[in-house]
Amino acid sequence: MPQLRFSAVEEAFSRPTVQFEIPKEKISEIFGINVFDRKKMQQYLSKDAYESVINAIDKGSRIERKVASQIAAGMKAWAIDRGATHYTHWFHPLNGSTAQKHDAFFTTGAENQAFETFSGDLLVQQEPDASSFPSGGIRNTFEARGYTAWDPSSPAFVLEQTLCIPTIFVSYTGEALDFKTPHLKSLMALDKAATEVCKYFDKDVKKVVSNLGWEQEYFLVDEALHKARPDLALTGRTIMGHAAAKDQQLADHYFGAIPDRVERFMKHFEIECYKLGIPVKTRHNEVAPNQFECAPIFEEANLAADHNQLIMSVMDKIARKHKFRVLFHEKPFKDVNGSGKHCNWSLMTDTGVNLFSPGGTPKNNLQFLTFLLNTLNAVNKHAALLLGSIASEANSHRLGANEAPPGIMSVFIGKTLSKVLDELQEKVHDKKMTPDEKSELKLEVVGKIPEILLDNTDRNRTSPFAFTGNRFEFRAVGSSANCASPMTVLNAAMAQQLTKFKSDVDKLIEKGIKKDEAIFQCIRKLIIASKNIRFEGNGYSKEWVIEAEKRKLPNISEATTAFKTFISPSAKKLMNEFYVFSDRELQARFEIKNEIFIKKVQIESRVLADLAINHIVPTVLAYQNVLINNVKGIKDLFADEREFDALAKPQLQTIKKISVHLKNIREKVKEMVEKRKEANKIQEADKKAKAYSFSVKPYLEEIRYHIDKLELIVDNQMWPLPKYRELLFIR
Ligand code: ADP
Ligand code: MG
Repeated sequence: MPQLRFSAVEEAFSRPTVQFEIPKEKISEIFGINVFDRKKMQQYLSKDAYESVINAIDKGSRIERKVASQIAAGMKAWAIDRGATHYTHWFHPLNGSTAQKHDAFFTTGAENQAFETFSGDLLVQQEPDASSFPSGGIRNTFEARGYTAWDPSSPAFVLEQTLCIPTIFVSYTGEALDFKTPHLKSLMALDKAATEVCKYFDKDVKKVVSNLGWEQEYFLVDEALHKARPDLALTGRTIMGHAAAKDQQLADHYFGAIPDRVERFMKHFEIECYKLGIPVKTRHNEVAPNQFECAPIFEEANLAADHNQLIMSVMDKIARKHKFRVLFHEKPFKDVNGSGKHCNWSLMTDTGVNLFSPGGTPKNNLQFLTFLLNTLNAVNKHAALLLGSIASEANSHRLGANEAPPGIMSVFIGKTLSKVLDELQEKVHDKKMTPDEKSELKLEVVGKIPEILLDNTDRNRTSPFAFTGNRFEFRAVGSSANCASPMTVLNAAMAQQLTKFKSDVDKLIEKGIKKDEAIFQCIRKLIIASKNIRFEGNGYSKEWVIEAEKRKLPNISEATTAFKTFISPSAKKLMNEFYVFSDRELQARFEIKNEIFIKKVQIESRVLADLAINHIVPTVLAYQNVLINNVKGIKDLFADEREFDALAKPQLQTIKKISVHLKNIREKVKEMVEKRKEANKIQEADKKAKAYSFSVKPYLEEIRYHIDKLELIVDNQMWPLPKYRELLFIR
């Protein structure tokens, strides 16, 4: 008898809601109490030290060693006041997790005197042993050291008695080994390029900031059930399991009432987030049962990316307190929707203008159009690389599965805005009008935009990249991804596009064309060029795949093919031009992506072989024996052949059916193991990953097919693993 499954189900279904004390204070009163933000810096730092940090944040200026010591002393004093005993550099290595190594402030001096210390040197830079983090060949073993360096633009915070200092992580030779370093570089490149373009419209603009508002989708599973599913525990997803009779067909979960237990958990982790300065705002049920979403108020992109990494670890910890496990895997359950992480992206000037929000003056509208069209063209030019930036083993289960866009990039801007672009394209072209008439007409068209957008509720949820009124929403990003990865590519692509735009407009101005007219002419070209990437229809449809092929848009949902975009000539040119990645760094990322892919498939394949042979096959044989004994009994009781046939026929058929499935499972497991062995002999990571993708991975589905069929045949009492109907519905 599968004890584990039944005791797990019982435990999960009778689990009481975990209580915890909700603070009496208003959210605004606890918000950021564990963050060393500007207010606390003012309190704990000297005027000089404070100004030095602020300049570093706002202008990227260097902090001198002497001042760093003062800052460290102030930071330590604040952290100890907040109950911290330890400190750590907090960074995002390329294995996708958050890394930290805690050291105590406490130390001993002469005569064993104990005291707390934290120096400026330790704040600014540390040298963790980098040998266990993926480096893609950048780090030789004799250069195992890596450097972490303080990122003052993301404030330090106290998490469970440890002062966490956000840092970048680079190799001994200076190459990035993390997500943050290239992200920061791309933000700088975009700031520079966008500011230059903004100056056409407003000379006072000195800085353009990227904003990011992510929407984090996730599943919750009861802890006991999670424990009873080795596949969930080891791979983050169910690699077998037949669909429940009812899951999301009735769409009755989406935006429905949040189960009590879950709401408690949400409130709990949200409170922890508020203390850490993460401005979480929205919570709701998602489409699939047990699937939920959480979204904050958008923030400056680097901080938002850090906050997303932080929230995933906070959610994981708090979920355990509520006897849940939170799943960030992109596709934990077959046949129900997977999870994404929509990245809402916008650009804002230091004069307070959202560059994706029209309105105010015709000038503002023209600026809006400039940025909108440059975005469309940036996405068009680097569509393949953007797909590469969101590609992973797990996300490939989700893309194109009729719940998320296929591996084709397209941009949705809505019918009304498209019409404005068409109109504008014609007006700029009209040769019969005088320049003044033209300008007036064009401004008239441009002037209509704000009203149009105001009542334009046009939404297309099937688009991987959609304009949603005042921002773009990159929807193809996977739920477990680090936002910095897609954002880095997007920012760099945009920086390149804006730089080109600026140079094109300047060339026309040099020829004596007036500025506005020059901008209109360049915009017209962008309107035409952007048609290729604009798509208003159903992104999940078969027609779109055919249409996209005609447009020569890349269609890449197989992960290892997508990885290759990182080492394409156009990626190298882009990333070198804007100092975001060197060729070596791109090559390293390519290697790392492949290595992670190999390991993920390898683990899944091992877990599946174990479960199939050691859990499923013995259970099925036991059930088959029950049937065989039943048939034998019938034979004893009914000597008459016709009577026997009538009574035993269904069982005999099932016995045969079972044998066929068992034979298939055994054979395919054997073949899969052979294919794994062959793949393991390959040295180069990319070729090995391809072997895993094309000759090992397909077995996972094939074997699963037979197991899932058997799940429907075998006595429910004997089935060893919690079923979908048990896993997917929190009581
Ligand atoms: P929906 O699911 O309808 O797209 P949500 O409320 O779940 O909307 O999430 C919207 C996300 O977009 C939030 O994270 C929000 O902060 C973010 N957002 C809103 N305006 C902007 C903006 N101008 N720039 C970047 N992100 C934004
Ligand atoms: Mg949402």
